[in-house]
Amino acid sequence: MLHTPSDLPIRSEHSSGDNDVFASLESDVRSYCRRFPRVFATAKGHLLTDEDGHAYIDFLSGAGVLNYGHNNDAITARVLDYMQQHGVIQGLDLHTTAKRDFLTTFETTILAPRHLNYKVQFTGPTGSSAVEAALKLARRLRPQRPIAAFTNAYHGMSLGALSATGDGPMRRASGVTLQDIVRLPFDGFFGDSVNTLSYIDALLSEPGSGVEAPAAFILETVQAEGGLKVASRSWLRGLAELARKHDALLIVDEIQTGCGRTGPFFSFEDTGIAPDIVCVSKSIGGIGFPMALVLMKDTLDAWRPGEHIGTFRGNNLAFVAATAALDTYWRDATFEQTTRRKGESIQARLQQMADRCPDGQARVRGRGMIRGLEWDNADIAMAVSAAAFKRGLIVETCGSREQVLKLLPPLTIDDASLAAGLDRLDDAVDDVYRSTEPQVAFRQSA
Ligand SMILES: *Cc1c(COP(=O)(O)O)cnc(C)c1O
Repeated sequence: MLHTPSDLPIRSEHSSGDNDVFASLESDVRSYCRRFPRVFATAKGHLLTDEDGHAYIDFLSGAGVLNYGHNNDAITARVLDYMQQHGVIQGLDLHTTAKRDFLTTFETTILAPRHLNYKVQFTGPTGSSAVEAALKLARRLRPQRPIAAFTNAYHGMSLGALSATGDGPMRRASGVTLQDIVRLPFDGFFGDSVNTLSYIDALLSEPGSGVEAPAAFILETVQAEGGLKVASRSWLRGLAELARKHDALLIVDEIQTGCGRTGPFFSFEDTGIAPDIVCVSKSIGGIGFPMALVLMKDTLDAWRPGEHIGTFRGNNLAFVAATAALDTYWRDATFEQTTRRKGESIQARLQQMADRCPDGQARVRGRGMIRGLEWDNADIAMAVSAAAFKRGLIVETCGSREQVLKLLPPLTIDDASLAAGLDRLDDAVDDVYRSTEPQVAFRQSA
């Protein structure tokens, strides 16, 4: 049974632990824990349980790491078994059975059925490590040219990846000039009436524009941290065309949208584009193990041995977990279909919530099971996130002003629990409108 922790103080008397150590010892840089100030002890499937036994429905999912839920049985069983047999855990880039199993399974379940001729580079284990490697490869293949990145992009925190990231405060925190990037407007940046592709093409074609043809474009098909901005399929196809025209590589950052988050394994599958380079991380490690990949068309594998290395490229537990996830969910199309179906039901519920908000204030955004609600007033999104937490639902905000509530339930969540989470969210939206705008008549659903 779920407890609804709405009326409990942040620190309960029954709390077994001491929270002061976080404030006194952990750096002020900590972030999510400020929004969701409990001490979590266990997790299973779509539930995160704090040390006092209150279970929260998790629509945060480690910001997209836990597509298969917490402590997924099919995956943990294989990991425990591997450890019991003393399988190699750290292997740098030595050949191991775990890595061979992963590569073979990735080839047969993901690449071959999609006719994708990619080679696989194991980078350091974070998404940023994959982005760094991808940018470096692009610059190596097209030297002396900048990288084109988009407004509201999020590609990570290391300096190269941060250069490609749009967020002002995060960029300023670096304290250096972030260089060798050309910033271009994402689909819809100037509103629906302006096609940013013509603007981009003009900039790159006109010799007087002052903008050089880039080595590569790097982009997300759905800008996740940037506010659930979805690139239309026609825009993506147009951009791929521009890349060809200007001899630039196309890098798709699938770190948050990949591993089935939008439905298909890769979010670009149903757009008709074939990226030259793909960055994969977050959910690829199955149960939250760090792992990252750069996929490159086989003709683009320009690396010489040892040119780009890293100690933690051989997280064999992640390989085992990744293989188990591919075996369990990606041998046929069932998982993709259920994700699409659940995505549609999330969309329908969010639309009902949006329709009940005073005129035009809330808009539904996203694709597949990365969806959310955007308000012009960022305070509302943040207040709904806080109200939802009181009702036992963990859901974060994103966007340049935190104006978008972002739902990332585990893809494996059952229908009843998904509905229960959405019910809590629905109630949280009510809570916020009742308390902040009593003067606005709140429309009850018909
Ligand atoms: C999370 C994320 C990254 C960075 O990954 P880290 O593991 O945090 O370094 C890069 N790109 C996208 C789209 C992401 O969502």
